[in-house]
Amino acid sequence: MKVAQLTDATTLSPTGRAAPAVELDHENLVVRRGPRSGAQMAVAVHSTVLGPALGGLRLWRYDSPMAGVADVLRLAHGMTLKAAAAGLDLGGGKGVICAPGLTRSLSWAYRREMLIDFAELVESLDGAYITAEDVGTGTEDMVALAEHTSHVAGLPAEHGGSGDPSPFTAMGVEAAIRACVEETRGDRELRGLGVVVVGLGHVGARLAMRLAAAGARLTVTDIDPRKRALATRLDARWIESEAALGIRCDVLVPCALGGILDQRSAASLRTEVVCGAANNQLATDAVAADLAARGVLYAPDFIVNSGGLINCYRDVSGADEDWARDAVMGIETTMSRVFATARQRGITPLAAARELAIERLDAAVRN
Ligand code: NAD
Repeated sequence: MKVAQLTDATTLSPTGRAAPAVELDHENLVVRRGPRSGAQMAVAVHSTVLGPALGGLRLWRYDSPMAGVADVLRLAHGMTLKAAAAGLDLGGGKGVICAPGLTRSLSWAYRREMLIDFAELVESLDGAYITAEDVGTGTEDMVALAEHTSHVAGLPAEHGGSGDPSPFTAMGVEAAIRACVEETRGDRELRGLGVVVVGLGHVGARLAMRLAAAGARLTVTDIDPRKRALATRLDARWIESEAALGIRCDVLVPCALGGILDQRSAASLRTEVVCGAANNQLATDAVAADLAARGVLYAPDFIVNSGGLINCYRDVSGADEDWARDAVMGIETTMSRVFATARQRGITPLAAARELAIERLDAAVRN
């Protein structure tokens, strides 16, 4: 069943274009107005076939609560694929809080009210959903949530958790970029590569630092002008965000919000590779075929950005940080395998990555 009506008012993509309808095949969707904060919030549990549904909490100013609901449904579905493809015993879920204003302008007192409301919603799901950080939230917020629910991953080490997942996400994106350039150029070296990073938040900033250290020629952008300081520090070229998609480069690295690539924006790309952390980069799956037809290698986001989830999984499995590092570096191999399958079968990397995830889910249902 499609829920097109949920997306009618949606302009959540960074490009300002309407997001597509989202498939409604989720196990659970709870939408609530926070009793203290009055903010609309939602949790979507897409699947618990492989384990509890772990996925971050996004705190964002949406155009409408419906846009937030559409986003949480789409993101939860992506989390199921991500956990399955990464070989983790986790399901897929996600949370959103629709902030009434720009997230950076919210007072801590009000933010706390929203977080307590959200924590109570998480607690009511009895462990089917485990929350963590995502766009607009950080470790401090996780600590606030943990005062009211035990179902929080990614708490700081001093609170007994695996900590901020972003460095692991960034590490995994770098590993995926290496697999991409190996595929396009036959060499996994990043030195001298022209890379455009869109969004210098928790992941994008760390990734930009890693890429600079590896010798890439960096161009960066963010809608937040304060991020320009990092560009200066890294000796990276700064551009306005509207220009990012049309810049000629070797690798485009979307690290902001989803929906950045639709048929029109995909046609304007002048890059060999798209490989970034942002969830749901493609407005529709059909864009994967458009990119392939134009000779652009698209690395499926749910494989590329699984590093943070892999590290958060430590809070469920009890594994140590060395395990997480090895597993995150393994994203390079997984990505290469996806590209090889796509090549051999004449399908897009997105289709190959989905098959990888669905095979695992089907096997779990059979057993
Ligand atoms: P963040 O909120 O810390 O950073 C996002 C950055 O993007 C901000 O600096 C924001 O100003 C910027 N931005 C927003 N719209 C933009 C636009 N149109 N152009 C340029 N910049 C823009 O979020 P994050 O944690 O770094 O996550 C980034 C993306 O990666 C998100 O899509 C998130 O879902 C995904 N992701 C994050 C993690 C993680 O570990 N944090 C894990 C997996 C996936």
